[in-house]
Amino acid sequence: MIYLVFGPPGCGKGTQAAHLAERFHIPAISTGEMFRAECKAGTDLGKIVCAALTKGELVSDEVTNQIVARRLTQPDCRQGFVLDGYPRTVPQARQLESLLRREGLMDPRVIYLDVPDEALVQRLTSRRQCSECGHIYNLHFQPPVRPGICDVDGGTLMVRADDQESVIRQRLRSYHELTGPVLNWYGPGVVHRVDGTRSVHDVTDAVDVEAMDCSTA
Ligand code: AMP
Repeated sequence: MIYLVFGPPGCGKGTQAAHLAERFHIPAISTGEMFRAECKAGTDLGKIVCAALTKGELVSDEVTNQIVARRLTQPDCRQGFVLDGYPRTVPQARQLESLLRREGLMDPRVIYLDVPDEALVQRLTSRRQCSECGHIYNLHFQPPVRPGICDVDGGTLMVRADDQESVIRQRLRSYHELTGPVLNWYGPGVVHRVDGTRSVHDVTDAVDVEAMDCSTA
């Protein structure tokens, strides 16, 4: 099974991708996480992508396609995987299609988490992430037990640089301009829409229904 968890920034892609990965015992691959790790490590790639991340712009297709191709050709991806945050442009979707064909892998199924912009801005400005393990909290819906401290490993909780409101608005503009058309490119037979405004629990249930539907399709 190859799932693409698709949707605007803050729609809950990371949470649902992790859920599907655990459920189907396949890796969850997040391009955003890969880029943030490169930035943090200060690698050559990190230097290129950091500026785009902080401004809320997309990293170039060329760089993104390269990092994804390297990851998807690893042995743990042979039985399937969940992609979180890729493809984000039509050229990336085309590139993924040719990579899957070349590798003899199955066609992906898109799970689209639909959430309106204003709800996303509200969610993202109250999002916090552990600086150590990356665990995500929301000050309103999923607060940590101790303010500012990660429940998992005691790490400090941070606001991601790209979760500032002006950057969020830029990310949403990029999403509507470049990422929205990816849904049309895949078409209704491939895209399974889920209402992402409900509670995490309800969204997870709905994703499960779509994922099962996908895996028996
Ligand atoms: P995310 O964690 O998925 O919201 O991604 C954070 C940031 O990483 C985005 O705002 C982009 O700057 C960059 N990024 C992640 N995935 C992609 C992609 N597929 N194409 C281009 N840039 C990406």
